[in-house]
Amino acid sequence: MLNLNASAFSPDEKNKPGDDKKSKAKREDTTKMVMNLEPIADLEGEETDTTEISFPSHDLYASWDTNTAHPYNFSESFKEDSVTIILTQGEDNCFVLPYKGGLTSLFGWRKYRPHYGTDIDLETGDSVLACFDGMVRVAKYYRGYGNCVIIRHKNGLETVYGHMSKLLVESGQELSAGTLIGLGGNTGHSYGSHLHFEIRYLGQALDTQDFIDYEKGDLKSNSFVLRKSDVTSKYDLRALHTRHKNDLMARKYGSRYPAKGGVYRVRSGDTLGAIAKRSGTSIKSLCKKNGLRPTSTLRIGQRLKI
Ligand SMILES: [Zn+2]
Repeated sequence: MLNLNASAFSPDEKNKPGDDKKSKAKREDTTKMVMNLEPIADLEGEETDTTEISFPSHDLYASWDTNTAHPYNFSESFKEDSVTIILTQGEDNCFVLPYKGGLTSLFGWRKYRPHYGTDIDLETGDSVLACFDGMVRVAKYYRGYGNCVIIRHKNGLETVYGHMSKLLVESGQELSAGTLIGLGGNTGHSYGSHLHFEIRYLGQALDTQDFIDYEKGDLKSNSFVLRKSDVTSKYDLRALHTRHKNDLMARKYGSRYPAKGGVYRVRSGDTLGAIAKRSGTSIKSLCKKNGLRPTSTLRIGQRLKI
């Protein structure tokens, strides 16, 4: 039964019957969110500067978007080699496990798509809790995530909670670790009740198991060092998958068929389709890189950029 809980969805899949147009039209003006915040006490003699009404980690993120799950581009916005993320500080800033249950699916590549979260087994109606202090950025039904809450935290992370049956918070709501945010469920792209839980930094999904000891129900450490090299080697699932595919091709066909970025010398009997397939690329890409048409005749000895 438990195995049924594994969902296989990627909220970032471009070819899903998405609702891009709708969500763009409905995109909220973020100034509205400012209005919704609790008014700051007007201190005598001190200017009330509205820019001080800030969302958690506003210095790190370019926007506060209550409609789009992941509008951030990690590679564009992360310019350092590494960053130390302070996860908890003092007693006020603690960590709470969103739900204590068995893990049914981990961070990694599924057969056809990346799985950016960790799936935690639960029953529909079980309480799902915020794991750090923060502010709710997104709380709505969102494509494959189903009923979904995304919280921006003071430590710079964002956490995502998907497939819930009921949402109990709304955008702009400030909350502390352990706040009940919704009830577990089976909405969106999900087969069987479970919580899809993600930790992201500037939009880049990270493996929650690098942060959390699920057996103990606690953080592995009070801080987390994120290196750009870790993103390349562990977290960028699409790039990893492409490299893996290229490696498999190289093993299968030898170095005769180079991976992307290499050069190939056309041999007798070659076709664009066969070269593309064996090099892990497409005819379209080969044509573009080499100024060819799909119907072009190849010459023996011709050099093709792969
Ligand atoms: Zn999942």
